[in-house]
Amino acid sequence: MTHYHIWTIGCQMNKAESRRIAGLLTAGGYEEDARLESADLVILNTCVVRQSAEDRIIGTLGLLKGIKRERQDLRIAVTGCFTARDRKALHKRFPHVDLFFDAGAYNQLSEWLSAHPLPGAAAPQGLPHDSAGDTPCARAIEADGSAGVSTYVPIIQGCNNFCTYCIVPYTRGREVSRPIEEIEAEVRELVLRGTREVVLLGQNVDSFGHDLPGHPDLAELLMRLQPIPGLLRIRFLTNHPKDMSRRLISTMEELDKVCEHIDLALQSGNNDILREMNRGYTVEDYSRLVDEIRAAMPRISLSTDIIVGFPGETELQFEETHSTLERLRFDVVHVAAYSPRPGTLAARKYADSVPDDVKRSRLHRVEILQEAVAGQINERYVRGTEDVLVQGRRRGKWFGRTRTDKLVFFESEEGLTGQLVQVTIDKASPWALQGTLDYTSITEARRVHQL
Ligand code: SF4
Repeated sequence: MTHYHIWTIGCQMNKAESRRIAGLLTAGGYEEDARLESADLVILNTCVVRQSAEDRIIGTLGLLKGIKRERQDLRIAVTGCFTARDRKALHKRFPHVDLFFDAGAYNQLSEWLSAHPLPGAAAPQGLPHDSAGDTPCARAIEADGSAGVSTYVPIIQGCNNFCTYCIVPYTRGREVSRPIEEIEAEVRELVLRGTREVVLLGQNVDSFGHDLPGHPDLAELLMRLQPIPGLLRIRFLTNHPKDMSRRLISTMEELDKVCEHIDLALQSGNNDILREMNRGYTVEDYSRLVDEIRAAMPRISLSTDIIVGFPGETELQFEETHSTLERLRFDVVHVAAYSPRPGTLAARKYADSVPDDVKRSRLHRVEILQEAVAGQINERYVRGTEDVLVQGRRRGKWFGRTRTDKLVFFESEEGLTGQLVQVTIDKASPWALQGTLDYTSITEARRVHQL
């Protein structure tokens, strides 16, 4: 038996793609190895959105170089955003890597494995093809045929937006949507295999469908998925403030399986910086959109992304970001310090002028603010009862998520993975909720489970 290990960093899209590669390899007779050190085939699925991620890739490639010196039959393949560079230069710098293949291009991996079969495994082949990139469609399934309670389903690849700091349009190319029928068929199959929640993925899910015949949109896709029996919840990531439609907001309101959570990157609270980032909206536009969302869905939870230390960001401009966060009060803020990505417009046009210690201190100030805001928001859950979709056990407790994407821990003697139960919240922190299971909800959960 040939063993593979997939090492993944980066966004949810990378995680979803790694699951698909794992499905492809499992279908080809390979077995997963939890340890990189002992696998016969190691695949690195990479991200270069931040310098720190790039440093980790280079460190892991160094580790693999040492292992390959001892074990010459080790095969190493690298995919994801790191491979979007000059391939000749990559081969020259990392001669111990056997294959660099494009993000999402499973066919390149499949063809290479056919040409260079590893002992004990058939080359993965003969699988149906995805529309996005003409790739073999390996479902997100485990070796035993089951699928996770919550499964990522990519619906659109690439991005046409060209935010000046972002490498994604260069590494993943222009937007390509998957046909609605294909997504629906995949979700139906996942549900048959045990999935209860799907998270629809795209760099910009609001662009979904514009390149398909008849131009369907995300709202239409949600309406197609809503009636699927056994599917309990639908989520999606990530929205773009300039593209999110009113139709999507009203569709979210109407469809009971669509959860009350939106990930809406703000990036900066200063209009000049937003313009330099080419984000296509102002702080006022963004605030209006948040007001509309909250008016339509008062329970909505909102997460956002912030970059501090963009070239030229003054103290005053950062203060505007800080005060915008104070005013809008997000459930979750993902904050990152700007790092120039070679090949992007920002890296070509601007010097990385904000010193590292200033970036660090701004980042820290956002974290402190957010901890306080998230703590206050989560405190409001205490003594309320939440529907929790149970995902598994961690540190001796069951855990799952509310419709608003809050992590909830609770105790139970019974196995509850995949069930929708009710939990009364006893305690809150900025990061999670602790609660008590309502045992009468288990019977109801089982009934729904069997539908
Ligand atoms: S919307 Fe902007 S930040 Fe997001 S992937 Fe596209 S270019 Fe990058």
